[in-house]
Amino acid sequence: MTTTRFAPSPTGYIHVGNLRTALFNFMIARKAGGTFILRIDDTDPVRSEQKYVDAIQRDMEWLGLTWDRVERQSDRMDRYAETADILREMGRFYEAFETPVELDLKRKKQLNMGKPPVYDRSALALLDTEKAALRAERGQGVWRYKLDQERIEWTDGILGDISIDAASVSDPVLIRGDGQVLYTLASIVDDTDMGVTHVVRGSDHVTNTATQIQMIRAIGGTVPDFAHHSLLTGPQGESLSKRLGTLALRDLREAGVQPMALLSLLARLGSSQPVELRTSMEELIEGFDISQFGSAPTKFDADDLYPLTARYNHTLALADVVDRIAGLGIPADQAARFWDVARENITVLSDLSEWAELAQNGADPLIDAGDEDFIAQAMAMLPSGPYTDATWGEWTSAVKDATGRKGKALFMPLRKAVTGRERGPDMAALMPLLQVIKAKA
Ligand code: GLU
Repeated sequence: MTTTRFAPSPTGYIHVGNLRTALFNFMIARKAGGTFILRIDDTDPVRSEQKYVDAIQRDMEWLGLTWDRVERQSDRMDRYAETADILREMGRFYEAFETPVELDLKRKKQLNMGKPPVYDRSALALLDTEKAALRAERGQGVWRYKLDQERIEWTDGILGDISIDAASVSDPVLIRGDGQVLYTLASIVDDTDMGVTHVVRGSDHVTNTATQIQMIRAIGGTVPDFAHHSLLTGPQGESLSKRLGTLALRDLREAGVQPMALLSLLARLGSSQPVELRTSMEELIEGFDISQFGSAPTKFDADDLYPLTARYNHTLALADVVDRIAGLGIPADQAARFWDVARENITVLSDLSEWAELAQNGADPLIDAGDEDFIAQAMAMLPSGPYTDATWGEWTSAVKDATGRKGKALFMPLRKAVTGRERGPDMAALMPLLQVIKAKA
């Protein structure tokens, strides 16, 4: 059975880049009728916080990315310790004592000599007495996994055939000196124990995947199908991380972006399929095909979310927005008309308040130089409200007869005087909603 997981570290809020990973894994599971696991990668007790776990779940619920179960790595420490023991017995683990500064120096030297900065395995040569001395001086060492220096190959769901020479990769540190289990170990144990069949993650994980494939085989697990999606960049190709502050999902929610707008964009961006607004998750899943995604960095522009959000909002029924409209103080018997009039003139739903404000309190008239007398004359001809569907037509034809103006020269100045804007809803439909017309005062 198809099983996928989204595995965020709860060390911050999730952003559009993480969402892409979550969405792909979610869609693969749902399309196959399989299981989607939300795995909280919280082996780092210092940086992991419950408030981020809550925020991740809230963001995913908002988007409708439902999970079948939650797993927390912090609940599974025993399994990681057991697996570490097995690997240690198999001779796959070795203790190393270099400090970060020493490692950095080694890397610099290698780079200067034109060599890849791969850990030189000098800890393998340490005698037990030397290790004991180092331990006494520096505390426990880190535990590295001794990679078999072979080519590691897989067919990636997005990148195609990949072949990585393990000799060009440092033996990964799986356990820190303070005993903290690192992600790589936890992840291979989880993927194996939980029967994960497909792993989609960012292309920054490609090297991890090579080492994980070896380790999964070493512990007798089944290697999942891997796919690595390209990373998102900003609209100019700049790194997205600089702008992450504005692209956290919670901020997009606050800004009024509609979930289906966000999902419609991210489910297709970077693929050969066009981005089109989908109004249901089923439709989105139906058309999803991981093999249509390319390996080139994918440009993401948050501005693209707003036309999609507007289009989504235009499709909403009165029932979807009736509470919001009531909350703006629009009388119940006017709610249907208000929604009809305003829906085409909003991007996000909070823009409705602008039209409610106009209905209730009017707007400062916009009067072009030279039009003052014309507006004064027209306003004198406008009866007092309440207005009906007929008011605009009757009034403008009376003004036309009195002034000789017609077409745009007639309608535009009146629209601007009444609404304070050059654009907006159909005036005939709007008039009955207007309780105050400031230009008339
Ligand atoms: N916690 C890891 C991350 O956020 C998960 C990577 C993976 O999918 O294995 O990068």
